Formats: sequence, C-alpha cells, structure tokens
Amino acid sequence: MQLRCTYCSTMFSISQEEMLAGLEHMEEHKQTYYDAHCPKCRRANRVERARMERFFPDWKKAIKTMAKESAQAEALAEKPAPQPVKEPAATGNKKSAGAKKK
Ligand SMILES: [Zn+2]
Repeated sequence: MQLRCTYCSTMFSISQEEMLAGLEHMEEHKQTYYDAHCPKCRRANRVERARMERFFPDWKKAIKTMAKESAQAEALAEKPAPQPVKEPAATGNKKSAGAKKK
C-alpha cells in the first residue's frame, strides 16, 4: 500500500509482508495503529489498523497460510530424528508381568 510521509511528504509503500507483520503485531498487542517508518526521514507514520485491514482483508487467512507453509518447510528441512529407544522401566513391581488387569 502507498503511504505519504506526514513529515517530509515522501511517497513510500509497505509490502504485503510488512502489512502482515504489522497486523499480527497489532493483534498481539491490541494496538490500533501501525508505525510505518519513512525510508527517507525514518520517522514513524501512523497507519490506522482499519485502513490496513480494508486494504488487506484476508490478512488472517494469509497468516494461517504462511504459518502452514513455514511449518511444511520446516518439516521438509528437518528430517525426523531417530527416536531414542525406550528402556523398560525397572519398577519394583513384584506381581508377575504377564498378568495384566484392566
Ligand atoms: Zn519522511
């Protein structure tokens, strides 16, 4: 989305990824504004959450999709580690091991 810096009038845009991160952050911290930093003067421009949500109504879905994709990527990257063999617990059970009661 395109923004104009209120301090130096520079036009700049924030990407969908940045908006997603911002929306997620606002959701977590119960904020209603996102601070978009001007690339020129580096000052924070407040963007209303409602405005961003209008611009990107599917953001919650997008976050879920992204989370799923990253989880899949992690699953692919990480090969399942071999499970350590569980040693039978040596309990002081004097009853015969064969007799199982429900
Ligand atoms: Zn600026």
